[in-house]
Amino acid sequence: MRYDVVVIGAGINGVYTTLELLDRGIKKIAIIEENYPGSGGTFRCATGIRASFTSREHVVLMKRSIEKWKELSKRFSFPFIQGGYVWLLSREEHLRNFKEYVRFHHSLGVPTRIVEPDKIKELVPTIKTDGLVAGVHDPIAGKSNPFTALLNVLEYLKKSGVEVRYPEKAEKIIVENREAKSVLTEKERIDAETILVAAGYGSRGILSTCGVDAPINNLPKHAMITEKYREVFKPLLVDWETASYMVQTVSGGFLIGAELEEEYNKPPMNRIEFLYTAVRIWSKYFDWFPSTHIIRYWTGYYVMTPDHHPILGPVKDVEGLYVSTGFSGHGFMIAPAASEAIAEWIVRGKPGIREAENLTIDRFKEGKLIHEIAVFG
Ligand SMILES: Cc1cc2nc3c(=O)[nH]c(=O)nc-3n(C[C@H](O)[C@H](O)[C@H](O)COP(=O)(O)OP(=O)(O)OC[C@H]3O[C@@H](n4cnc5c(N)ncnc54)[C@H](O)[C@@H]3O)c2cc1C
Repeated sequence: MRYDVVVIGAGINGVYTTLELLDRGIKKIAIIEENYPGSGGTFRCATGIRASFTSREHVVLMKRSIEKWKELSKRFSFPFIQGGYVWLLSREEHLRNFKEYVRFHHSLGVPTRIVEPDKIKELVPTIKTDGLVAGVHDPIAGKSNPFTALLNVLEYLKKSGVEVRYPEKAEKIIVENREAKSVLTEKERIDAETILVAAGYGSRGILSTCGVDAPINNLPKHAMITEKYREVFKPLLVDWETASYMVQTVSGGFLIGAELEEEYNKPPMNRIEFLYTAVRIWSKYFDWFPSTHIIRYWTGYYVMTPDHHPILGPVKDVEGLYVSTGFSGHGFMIAPAASEAIAEWIVRGKPGIREAENLTIDRFKEGKLIHEIAVFG
């Protein structure tokens, strides 16, 4: 069987791009997944969705993503709650920087605003604001549920005839005369008109089998969640000083991520100091936090590029080969817009959002990097 498109990776990006392709009339699609759908970054993510970034590319794509999160959550019956983000700032120099970012957001239609500590208390009941100089409120940001956001769509894809093959590892991309021809898996050779690499942490490896060097490095990350509690606050909180975040998930648990010094490409291992770090940071803000019960701690990768932007679109030197990876910690939130862009590229030769064209793999060779500062966790 020859497929129109073979997608490597059943994370949120592989699955949503398949949906966008189906919606555009492409029918013969196979997704190859080495473990199980969602098992990469997607089911480890912190559910956050925002457009308050510091590059034009990110802001424009994330704004589109938020529109699509609204549509997709209705269409596939999963939650998308627009509870906002609140960035907590404890230094005057950070406030000065954020005043600039807020102006930049406004120029692109994202209505963030600087808020005083009293307003933070209104937005985040029970928070202590001692030591904060101000906050930034992003009212259009939100959160979803990665499990239903992926599985509900995957179910629809299967019913629509997409072949979802797992566990099956893609071992090689076969290129002949600079044209992507097939994916060789541990089981067989699968021929395709177009091949999309959406393999998260595995993208660099599989791309290297056809001579494409993607400058991606996997950075271990840590997260924990408490038992479920009644809703205390809606926004996702970012402690900018420590690059840590806390969100009360749609299900009610308090999910926290915090930075630990880590080395690229090492296996993500549990480290007990993560729990101390997370509890120390957030107990400062919430008196009740030490009494909550932590039920789960996990690790995963941020799949990082040198400029903290994804690699999207066609690979110039290999006809029929596309990439959607390197999301640098934001691959869940951007998935609806990134997937739409990739599907448009495949079907009609270019993405609807012009800014996506700045994110192809060629930017590294051409030295056209675009820097993002607002990365945390
Ligand atoms: C702790 C943590 C918190 C995060 N929080 C957020 C957040 O709040 N918001 C946000 O937007 N992002 C967040 N992220 C990042 C987000 O999870 C990822 O960017 C996103 O899930 C990437 O999706 P993906 O589809 O590109 O990759 P993945 O979900 O990793 O999917 C890729 C799939 O490819 C498969 N695969 C790999 N190699 C092969 C191969 N050779 N053959 C076959 N299959 C293969 C993998 O098994 C995997 O299932 C977080 C990440 C972590 C670790």
